Amino acid sequence: MKTRFVVLGAGFGGLELATLLSEALGSDAGITLIDETDAFVFGYSKLDVMFGRETPDEVRLPYADFVKPGVRFLRETITAIDPEARRVTTNKAVHEADVLVVALGADYDFDATPGLAEGGNEFYSVRGAERLREMLPSFTRGRAIVGVCGAPFKCPPAPSEAALLLHDYLSQRGLRDECQISLVMPFGSPVPPSPDTSAALLTAFAERGIEFVPERRVSSLDPARGVAVLDDGAELPYDLFLGVPKHRAPDVVLESGMAKDGYIPVDSRTLETRFADVYAVGDVATVGVPKAGVFSEGAARIVAASLIAQLQGGDQPPAYDGRGACYVEFGAGRVGRVDVDFLSGPKPTGTFQEPSGVLVAEKQQFGASRRARWFNR
Ligand SMILES: Cc1cc2nc3c(=O)[nH]c(=O)nc-3n(C[C@H](O)[C@H](O)[C@H](O)COP(=O)(O)OP(=O)(O)OC[C@H]3O[C@@H](n4cnc5c(N)ncnc54)[C@H](O)[C@@H]3O)c2cc1C
Repeated sequence: MKTRFVVLGAGFGGLELATLLSEALGSDAGITLIDETDAFVFGYSKLDVMFGRETPDEVRLPYADFVKPGVRFLRETITAIDPEARRVTTNKAVHEADVLVVALGADYDFDATPGLAEGGNEFYSVRGAERLREMLPSFTRGRAIVGVCGAPFKCPPAPSEAALLLHDYLSQRGLRDECQISLVMPFGSPVPPSPDTSAALLTAFAERGIEFVPERRVSSLDPARGVAVLDDGAELPYDLFLGVPKHRAPDVVLESGMAKDGYIPVDSRTLETRFADVYAVGDVATVGVPKAGVFSEGAARIVAASLIAQLQGGDQPPAYDGRGACYVEFGAGRVGRVDVDFLSGPKPTGTFQEPSGVLVAEKQQFGASRRARWFNR
């Protein structure tokens, strides 16, 4: 009997896992990949959309183009997961799995930050980035806050990138002198595992007059007064709020009984959950690595290698090492890179490469290689 693989979520983790299984097992693979949306969008494309560097249409990668032998893509909303029975219910059907992989990412908890939904804006969802794209042209003077409402959050450098790109956006329009930019973050430094990256970002902030407010998160907004309230009670006035909402696993995961403290606990070496033949990869899991696409992809590679070895014989893969490289937009058309290693040593480490034009091309290649691999583009 063919093994029935059911992969929940077609983000970085789900796409890479389905691709690897398809490559190894071919048209007999028996993979069902389920996602409720009709297109994939890279996380960093939200910054491009928000600042008008690309249109929403340009950054969409339709799942209709994800065509792989042995993979069936279903656009369905998952409404229940029974990890004991490995049974998944959607708005359209019930799917039984021999191997279940949960790759549903992290969702946003707007209610956790009173005032955010009514009086703030966020740039972490496609819709939020599109809304800000429409609003930014009318921001011509006053105080802008890039504010993080809770940790962990996806792509730790992204709020710093947003502040630097906002500086460029306002400078290009001749408005920078009329505006102040503050960045509120619940870390002591912009990228804690890499002191060199943090130092370079702090220098870039200082050169551009961007205020960095460390060790604080935005706990509520008072839209009537135009004030962001921080977790120590301090108040920061704002005219424009660019928010990073508090994150949590999607409701369907929280309701499945798989999660603990908001996310799915896994053995970080193998990505196995406590349920037999059920794995969790990427942002939805507690692995001990940041929430970023490169880590979701790396975890998917380990799960794929393990499943292929189980089916075809051969050695199990080495333990997941939690390594990944992130590109960091510094503004002014420059991109830096940080290589982080979260699991192989006693504590996380990071190595920084100075922003350069070569890294701009490397970041483009990072996106282009995934577009080609997953979407034949
Ligand atoms: C502004 C920004 C910049 C970023 N920059 C980078 C970067 O430069 N590099 C990097 O590596 N990462 C970056 N990230 C982070 C990256 O986008 C995420 O960490 C990554 O997408 C996580 O991959 P995943 O597979 O775990 O989950 P996701 O990619 O979030 O995929 C989860 C999928 O599950 C689907 N889903 C959820 N619930 C349901 C349901 N009930 N039914 C059906 N489908 C469902 C969703 O539609 C989604 O497609 C950035 C993120 C943001 C917001």
